Amino acid sequence: RKKWKRVVGVLKELEESCETTVGRLRQVVDAMAVEMHAGLASEGGSKLKMLLTFVDNLPSGSEKGIFYALDLGGTNFRVLRVELGGQRSNVDPDVEQQPIPEQLMTGRSEDLFDFIASTLHRFVEKGNDSVQYSITKELGFTFSFPVKQTSVSSGVLIKWTKAFAIKDMVGKEVAGALQQALARKGLNMRVAVLVNDTVGTLALGHYHDADTVAAVIIGTGTNACYWERTDAIIKCQGLLTTSGGMVVNMEWGNFWSSHLPRTSYDIDLDAESPNPNDQGFEKMISGMYLGDIVRRVILRMSEESDIFGPVSSRLYVPFALRTPAMAAMHEDDSPELTEVARILQDVLDIPDVPLKARKLVVKICDVVTRRAARLAAAGIVGILKKIGRDGSGGIAGGRSRSDIKMRRTAVAVEGSLYTQYTMFREYLHEALHEILGEDIVRHVVINVTEDGSGTGAALLAASHSSSG
Ligand code: ADP
Repeated sequence: RKKWKRVVGVLKELEESCETTVGRLRQVVDAMAVEMHAGLASEGGSKLKMLLTFVDNLPSGSEKGIFYALDLGGTNFRVLRVELGGQRSNVDPDVEQQPIPEQLMTGRSEDLFDFIASTLHRFVEKGNDSVQYSITKELGFTFSFPVKQTSVSSGVLIKWTKAFAIKDMVGKEVAGALQQALARKGLNMRVAVLVNDTVGTLALGHYHDADTVAAVIIGTGTNACYWERTDAIIKCQGLLTTSGGMVVNMEWGNFWSSHLPRTSYDIDLDAESPNPNDQGFEKMISGMYLGDIVRRVILRMSEESDIFGPVSSRLYVPFALRTPAMAAMHEDDSPELTEVARILQDVLDIPDVPLKARKLVVKICDVVTRRAARLAAAGIVGILKKIGRDGSGGIAGGRSRSDIKMRRTAVAVEGSLYTQYTMFREYLHEALHEILGEDIVRHVVINVTEDGSGTGAALLAASHSSSG
């Protein structure tokens, strides 16, 4: 009995340290808006990098013609072709996916880009477009690694992440390397835009809904970008665009604030990660980490009691519990929680867990996911606040709510956490309602886009094509 009491104590402590009251969320909203401001004011002014993208117009739906895109960011790389007919016609891209051979991820940059160009060459021919067309085709390049952008179609690789480590590429111009490989293959194509995946999502969102002002991805990692007025981008004095605005890539996974509700599990996870003190927001929100937070709580309970039997050695394995398995336990609606029992047994090697303890596991998943979804919601409202679309009249505004006529405002969202994890999505919506209030939230629309990282890049190639 005493042991059970201890386990309940662990849960209670978890709940308290994960608390996200509306008051707390509003503090996170304010902190996000303030940090955005700081990141725009000076280089290195905030943990939010607020990277310029030079994307100064978004697809409107009137684009016409055939456009291509390359999407490089994970182990698979994709080639896409879209044919646009104007009038917001449906975008139904032809897509081909190719795994990148492992030796190319760590070899010479020329070999990687030759491989990419060859794949594109074959893809173009298969689509019955002539490779030697007389008119240059426009290509969008989604390159989801940290890049210091110098124009909409050029940028320098800051560092590789994930499985890539091509030394001679760091510090080099990314689109230029691709452009040269295209020339070697005799492809008459121009790299019209070099973008990050969230920018693609914003572009696709805007193509379908012109009120779209921001895009958020919540998948393995998390990031967001939004449309900003150039005169608010203080760190780039004299920046002029025809539209008066530009997309800013926030790199919001690195957001940090003392108002974020942090637990001892978060601190341990961060300390044991390859990038301590980095990506603090991401480590509380995204699919890479949620399962591991839950694993750490179960481990602690198992160590403090015998309700999970002898401590399973699997519980010590980092990332042994993946977020999809965690979600499956969370959403197990069988009266006996049979799915929870199965996953505890199969994944964590913990057999015969009594129902009472299985319920506890569901509760842990609920606490961790609820906090994640509510913080993501606060982040979204932070963006809306920064651009004066939260109904409060902007960060410096002193006007009262009733003075403001709230405009319809759309946010494009992508990523499995939002699209596949129902509880996450519902908690996010609930928090939006709580923070903004019914009067304002009525005007805020969340649109799910599909495959914006690739398709959006093709659309941006269209809206930034040299023919205008
Ligand atoms: P990306 O890797 O490009 O972000 P996704 O948006 O599909 O791709 O995100 C994948 C991540 O989402 C995985 O790391 C996994 O943690 C999580 N995930 C996938 N399916 C589910 C699910 N049904 N429930 C919860 N999380 C999921």
